Amino acid sequence: ARGELAESDLLVTRCLIGGKWVAGDNAPISVTDPFTQEAFATVPRLGAAETEQAIAAAADALPAWAGRTAQERGRILRRWYELLMHHEEDLARLITRENGKTLSEARGEVAYGAGFIEFYADEATRTLGEVIPAPVPGRRLLAEREPVGVCAAITPWNFPLAMLTRKVGPALAAGCAMVAKPASATPLSALAFAKLGEEAGVPAGVLNVVTGAAGKIGDAITASATVRKLSFTGSTEIGEQLYAQCAGTMKRLSLELGGNAPLLIFDDADLDTAVETALVAKFRNSGQSCIAANRIYVQKGLHDQFLSAFAEKVGAMKAGDGFDDASDIGPLIDSAAVAKVAEHRDAALGGGARLLAGGGDPGGQMFAPTLLADVAPDAQLACEETFGPLAGVIAFDTLEEGLDMANATPFGLAAYLCARDPQVIARITRGIESGMLGINTGLISTAHAPFGGVKMSGLGREGSHHGIAEYLNIKYVCQAGL
Ligand code: ADP
Repeated sequence: ARGELAESDLLVTRCLIGGKWVAGDNAPISVTDPFTQEAFATVPRLGAAETEQAIAAAADALPAWAGRTAQERGRILRRWYELLMHHEEDLARLITRENGKTLSEARGEVAYGAGFIEFYADEATRTLGEVIPAPVPGRRLLAEREPVGVCAAITPWNFPLAMLTRKVGPALAAGCAMVAKPASATPLSALAFAKLGEEAGVPAGVLNVVTGAAGKIGDAITASATVRKLSFTGSTEIGEQLYAQCAGTMKRLSLELGGNAPLLIFDDADLDTAVETALVAKFRNSGQSCIAANRIYVQKGLHDQFLSAFAEKVGAMKAGDGFDDASDIGPLIDSAAVAKVAEHRDAALGGGARLLAGGGDPGGQMFAPTLLADVAPDAQLACEETFGPLAGVIAFDTLEEGLDMANATPFGLAAYLCARDPQVIARITRGIESGMLGINTGLISTAHAPFGGVKMSGLGREGSHHGIAEYLNIKYVCQAGL
């Protein structure tokens, strides 16, 4: 059967609160396969009361978990990583089924996502404090680090497993307990992840997963004085709202929000590298990534050559069933997503853009990989996140012009650059307003590096040793009379 799992008990349809798997009392939420558009599973529709129970369970579990040695926490995370990789194929199938992405991309997500659990298994023992030379005699000054406490995670549907592991890994390694709310469209990989955590030895209450009404769960999390930190990945609109909601309890916040990433391609770029960078940066996950290259700026000397090489590749790509090996990209998450991409396409064509490849939305939630040239710099697709497989190319002349267009957005998550001249690379590196920059590559994400944005793209970093610092408070200790 479609998307069948080797181990059917990884299809988990209950939530985890304080070590108990709960179903809830309300009518459940349906999970839909984006390719067939059929509901194939349900998960609980929990609300404020269950969220408060989950927060209380996390608070109960916190002292014992924080009290374990970092090495013990690390060992549990290591086992969890091994279980995730052992079940890579089943987890990938769950992701393809609920999200639509191709199975090969889903496998990539499992490996990438599990990488955060592996990385933080080791990082747990490296949360070093400091001994500070005292400015007066007879004193000892220490900066100790301690877990923030109970934390919450709210995650999106585009990388349903990895967006959770990059929060849970550092939180649990640091000694925090967590309440997580996955996106309602894609809750199954999160629930399977929690189940494998239980198997790895994560104690009851240390990780709780609630599915249900986003507003109610979000309100309960943000209003709680017990929850000391919220990490959210999603839209800037909801991020702004959660930021405001957290003010009353002064929570620490990590916000990973909208991107609108530019890709700048200069005359001296290697053509194959530029085409490859554009392909992965734009079309990975059907373009449904917050670091997707949303705007492609090509310098005039390479513009036409780049367009013909890129058009050939884009034209050869096929949108289809994620379970079919012949598909290069899967369907979009829902029909509203398809409508948005179609709107951006139509507006750009109306503004004088030329269609060079693809263009169609052939039904279902499919959208053909599409390339438009001569896009107006102020077209909707260059100003708003398209979040779909629609690439728009805009020509530029000088470095200053390219850089100005790249920075002309309230967002600042990722940016990409294809060039060889060290002077150009250095000037763009300095001038670009983004938290991340890929030079001659469209693949930049890894658990080992700090992921995050500037401007309206959010606060904080995930991954690397910076990612665990977000879950640790500094306690300054000053001992006198020595
Ligand atoms: P997207 O759907 O583009 O990923 P959203 O910001 O709408 O972006 O959703 C990201 C996550 O935030 C999802 O888990 C969603 O359920 C959740 N969410 C949406 N609205 C709220 C809200 N008012 N409070 C808390 N969480 C929310």
